[in-house]
Parts: sequence; structure tokens; C-alpha cells
Amino acid sequence: NVPIRTVCCIGAGYVGGPTAAVIALHNPHIRVIVVDRDQKRIDAWKGRHLPIHEPGLEDVVRIARDGGAEWRRRSSVGQARAGAIDGETPDEVVEPRRQPNLFFSTACVETIKEADMCLISVNTPTKKRGVGAGRATDMAAFEGACRDVAMNAKPGCILVEKSTVPCKTGQLMKDIMEAHRPGVVFPVLSNPEFLSEGTAVRDLMQPDRVVIGCESTISGHRAAAALANLYAAWVPRSRIAPINIWSSELCKLAANAMLAQRISSINSISAICERTGADVGEIAKSVGMDPRIGPQFLKAGLGFGGSCFRKDIASLTYLSESLGLPEVAAYWQQVLTMNNFQRDRFARNVIATLNNSLRGKKITILGYAFKKNTGDARESPALDVIRILLEEGPKSISIFDPLCSESDIKRELSVLEQEFAVCKPEGPVEVLSDPYVACADSNAVLVLTDWDMFKITEQAKPTKPESSADSYDGATPSGLLRITSNLDQVNISKPPTPPRTPKMSPLPADLQSRLLPEAVCPADCTEC
Ligand code: NAD
Repeated sequence: NVPIRTVCCIGAGYVGGPTAAVIALHNPHIRVIVVDRDQKRIDAWKGRHLPIHEPGLEDVVRIARDGGAEWRRRSSVGQARAGAIDGETPDEVVEPRRQPNLFFSTACVETIKEADMCLISVNTPTKKRGVGAGRATDMAAFEGACRDVAMNAKPGCILVEKSTVPCKTGQLMKDIMEAHRPGVVFPVLSNPEFLSEGTAVRDLMQPDRVVIGCESTISGHRAAAALANLYAAWVPRSRIAPINIWSSELCKLAANAMLAQRISSINSISAICERTGADVGEIAKSVGMDPRIGPQFLKAGLGFGGSCFRKDIASLTYLSESLGLPEVAAYWQQVLTMNNFQRDRFARNVIATLNNSLRGKKITILGYAFKKNTGDARESPALDVIRILLEEGPKSISIFDPLCSESDIKRELSVLEQEFAVCKPEGPVEVLSDPYVACADSNAVLVLTDWDMFKITEQAKPTKPESSADSYDGATPSGLLRITSNLDQVNISKPPTPPRTPKMSPLPADLQSRLLPEAVCPADCTEC
């Protein structure tokens, strides 16, 4: 048994923050310290308003970080039963007031020094330049974190890959450790994260599976058991799968590639439907009723977005080519090609609907995020749509999103700066905080994110939709995208001026009953 008292999580992003918070919540006897080089992000994690928006996250962080609040959890008996018998109401125990055990810091070196286990959950985007640009994974941040660990970790510290990385990265980690600390044993585990933004807390609280990849050595198995024990505090053992480390690394890329492939498959059918008069919704429903296929990820739409699917499939194609398997690379590349085709097709439909010219016209985009319930502006399908629309020289494009900040949207749009001067105040794109102001005098309103507040009312539904799409990231797809030149057809639900940071939707009922207190800002809160 390897005793774990202190866990260091490197990277306080969409994965590191929520994962560390849930581990801390369920393991009150362990200190969990999340470190990041980004001072602003750490300050936000320490403050009242978290840097990322996830339903239920505030509650989890408040209990683990601030302590003192009572909360309910399943008893171990209830937990075992819930794992064994689906749908059974589990027994519950009320946790007493507790000491804070979740901390956030920029002191990376000091924290690594005292850690028994280091979870590495830094960003692994696609390389922008050099060999493999556009496809290979940029491992700079990951290697940097590994070097920090190699130079500072105590002997025997367990290293866990939580970032999504190419297969064989575990070997790279071992090489880095060996180069800096020859002869010292550092067990390396792969523990890929399958959460989806927008449902991160639910996904972490009730994971379908926890995959732990380890080497077939005694130290490898011991390390895997230590990590499994952390998860076993709330995840039934039957869902914790110890596997070979290379399988573990590859299964994350495989899962994302296969989910994305379903979306591209149904989108390819949607293109045929539009030419033939077949209804892709009816086809998806019928096909999805086949139990061998299933209904999820079969809704035709704008294609997938988000920070993972595109980059992970690109990484898979690059990996395949590096392994001398160009046919495999070409197979998965087609999933990306179909995704781009769908966005392109949608934008061209908009232009065609507006008489093939956007000159002097105003377009409004409702929703920038790649899906609802997240403020993550990265890799949004909206960016490609905006690029194509701008080529037609519209008078202006107004964007409203209830969660994405103006600065995040402008940062993403900055790739269009050279061509279209989008970030200049007098440029053609503006980000507005009021949806009604954004829609005023528009020639077309495009709903690009499936936020509930944009849902089209039954009475206002056009008899025959001109085009429809969905936003995806790997979670449940829903929502509708419509091109309409008639504003009466779009119902933007009240309030007319939503707050820039709207109150997050409540936790699902089953989780709510396990987390009691409501977060309330004190009257003297200096951050509101
Ligand atoms: P992110 O960009 O939100 O966060 C990464 C953080 O790591 C940043 O705050 C950055 O400052 C920090 N960082 C980078 N190098 C560091 C270093 N050396 N020391 C300390 N901090 C450092 O990224 P994310 O969305 O949380 O993704 C993290 C990983 O998880 C990626 O590999 C991603 O593919 C994977 N993943 C993401 C999701 C998702 O939905 N976002 C889901 C599953 C897996």
C-alpha cells in the first residue's frame, strides 16, 4: 500500500480544477493542491467567482476548499448497492463539518516537493508550427510540467497523465525522469479524463468508467492501486478499470474519434437529405433505435466543436502516419473533413438565403460557445461560420453569448484580425451583452449554440426550417440552429438583459440531495 497524503494537480484548467475538487471532496483526509503558472487563474480559483463555469462546481469547491459545510454522501453500503443495482436509492450519511483540503497555488516547485502523487493536467493543444503543424500534439506544456516534476518530486512520487496525450507518452515521461534523476523510481500511470464541459461535475461524480493504465511491474501495480483507492471513495470498484498503460493512452483518443465519427456520419447523411427531401431527424431516430447503434451522437448539426475532438483526431491521424499507417490516418482525417464541410455548407446556406450577398447586411450570432452551459470559447464552430460570412463583406456581425466573455471571443477571433480587422473598435464584428440589442435591425439571426434561452417557441416555428444544426463536444447533443430573416421566429427568453455571469443551472436532483448548502455571496463581497 502506497500511502497518499498530498496530491498535487498541475494545471488549473477545465480538467485540473474540477477533477482536483471532486477528488478532494471525496477524500477529506488528503490534501489536494492545484498549481498553475497563471496567477490570474489561481486567484480566480481562490476567489468567489471561479474561472470556469460548470453546473455544480461552486458547491463542490466551496465544501472542499472552504470546509465547514455539511454535505450528504452515499454510505459505502449504499454506494456498493447503487453500483450493483441500477436506480436503487442509496443509503446516505451526513458528513460532519470538515477542514478545508483543497488549495490553489502558483508555488509549483514547493508543492511538487511535498506531493506523494502528481496529476498532470496541463494543456496539450495541436502544434501550430514546425514538424506536424496542424495535427501533431504540442507537448511543450506537458514536457515543462514533467521537467518540473523530475527536478523536484520526492523519490517514489506517483506521476499521473491526466492530459490527453499521444500513445507512448508514458515512455517520454520515464525518459525525462531518468535524464534528471537517474536510478530513482517514479511510477507512471495514465488516467485519461472523459468529462465533457458543461457536465463536468456530473461526469466526475458518476463516471461510466475510470481507466487507470499502469506498467506491469510491482511498483506500477502498487501505484495503480493507490490511485484506484482515491477514486474508490466514491466510484464503485466495478467501474475502475486497471489496464495496460499504452491501451489507456490510446483509449482516450479512440473514444473521442469514435464519438466524433458518429457525428460526421450523420452529418454526411444530412447533406444527402437536403438534396433528396429525406428528413435527417427521422433517419437519426430510426437508425438510433437499433440497439446495436443507439441514439446518442446522431443528431445532424453544425458539427462538433470544443477543445478536444478536433485536436484528438488530428493527433490520432498524425500518430497513425508516424507509425507508417497512412490508410488509417486517411480514414480518421475524413471525420475532420466532413466536420469542416458541414460548417462550410451551413454558412453557404446562410449566404444563399440572403440572395447571395451580404453587402450592407447585418448578421446576428446568438451563442458563440461550442455548446450550452460552458463559457469556453475555444474551437467553436462559430469561428468558421464567421470567417466565411466575413468574406462576403457584411455591414456587421453582432455576437451575443450568455457566458463567453468578450475578451475570450475576441481572442479566438484574433486569427481573423489580419484579413478582416475584427478586433478593431470600428471593425465589422461586435460582441454585445444584450441579445435584443444584438438582434436589432438584423437581416439574419443565426443560433449557433443550443442555449435554452434561444429555444424557438412552438408558435414561432417556421413551417419548414431552412436549415438546422446542433452543437456538440462529446456530450448529449440537443438544440436547434435556424437561419431566419424574420426576427419574430426567434424567441429569446427573459430576462432581456442576462447577466454576463448568469447563475448556473442547478445540479441534477440526485446530486443536489448529496450536496446541501447554497452558495450565497456575502453582502460585503468585493468581487461582485
Ligand atoms: P486548460 O488550457 O483549460 O488548462 C491547462 C492549464 O495548465 C492552464 O491553466 C495552464 O496555465 C496550465 N499549465 C500549463 N503548463 C503548466 C506548467 N508547466 N505548470 C503549471 N501549470 C501549467 O486545459 P484543459 O481544457 O483543462 O485540458 C487539459 C488536458 O485535459 C488537455 O490535455 C485536454 O486535452 C484534456 N481534456 C480536456 C477536456 C475538456 O473538456 N477541456 C476533457 C478531457 C480531457
